[in-house]
Amino acid sequence: KPQSLDHDGEDVAERLGVRLTSPDRVVFPDQGITKADLVSYYEAVAEVMLPHIKDRPLSLVRCPQGRAKACFFQKHDTGGFPDEIKSTEIVEKDGDSQNYFYVTDLAGIIAGTQMNTLEWHIWGSRRQSVEKPDRLVFDIDPDEGLDFSAVTSAARDIGAKLTAMKLKSYPMVSGGKGIHVVVPLKPDVEWPDAKAFCKNFAQALADEEPERFTANLSKAQRKGRLFIDYLRNERGSTAICPWSARSRQGAPVAVPISWDEAKTIKAANLFSLEATAARARDENPWPDYFEIKQSLKGKLS
Ligand code: ATP
Ligand code: MN
Ligand code: MN
Repeated sequence: KPQSLDHDGEDVAERLGVRLTSPDRVVFPDQGITKADLVSYYEAVAEVMLPHIKDRPLSLVRCPQGRAKACFFQKHDTGGFPDEIKSTEIVEKDGDSQNYFYVTDLAGIIAGTQMNTLEWHIWGSRRQSVEKPDRLVFDIDPDEGLDFSAVTSAARDIGAKLTAMKLKSYPMVSGGKGIHVVVPLKPDVEWPDAKAFCKNFAQALADEEPERFTANLSKAQRKGRLFIDYLRNERGSTAICPWSARSRQGAPVAVPISWDEAKTIKAANLFSLEATAARARDENPWPDYFEIKQSLKGKLS
């Protein structure tokens, strides 16, 4: 097991009564990271990750043959999963109900890992109030060739613009190419209002600095710019969960950082599982995240 991960994943699973088959199966070949190592990692970050993931409908990125082989996004629970990963029925746009996964504890995360989940993507609302988001995310997607300093300065400018609107926000490196600026909310407005707020916010950035930002998904519009992906903020959309591993080159993690760190950080994919486990133990990059009580009410135009 990687150094600094406190416990052996097989022991952790056994203690929690989750069946772990082929614990030694390598899921990140370049790093030699096994399924049991992933379990050790999630045990190390459980205390900080669970408050973020708990009770949210999930999409899972599953890679039955490990990273870099065929992975797929799984939105619906179609059966065959261990009992520790739970499922909740949600009515979709077309009026049909579907079963969505959710977890409330480490056993649930281990059960997902058992099913070769390498990434945990979360809704912005929880199953108890699915129609009302309790988090927004401004997903900054840089065009290829842009320096990462363009991403960090954009994140900080977005944070400052939110502060000016009396909204506190928190930066997270995605584990890929960008930064997510996350806004915790009281769940008291519904998705269409939240989405409109985010769209207006992103469009205002693009209007003010059209050479720098775009709020338009189209490839041509994104050329040389930062795409402010506000589309994460609609009912049924997901974003990577804080502290989730990514199924990308280098086995990176989506990691909360402080606004101070956002000034100097050099890329979005620099945190390994071990470094992230150590961070979860030693640092608290988002200290007051779950204490903030703020709302979009009065901010919708
Ligand atoms: P990066 O920093 O590299 O952009 P990211 O996690 O922000 O990493 P995006 O491609 O910007 O990746 O996607 C944002 C979010 O959209 C993802 O975190 C995920 O939740 C969701 N998403 C992406 N691809 C899919 C997909 N194929 N199906 C469902 N949701 C997806
Ligand atoms: Mn992104
Ligand atoms: Mn995106």
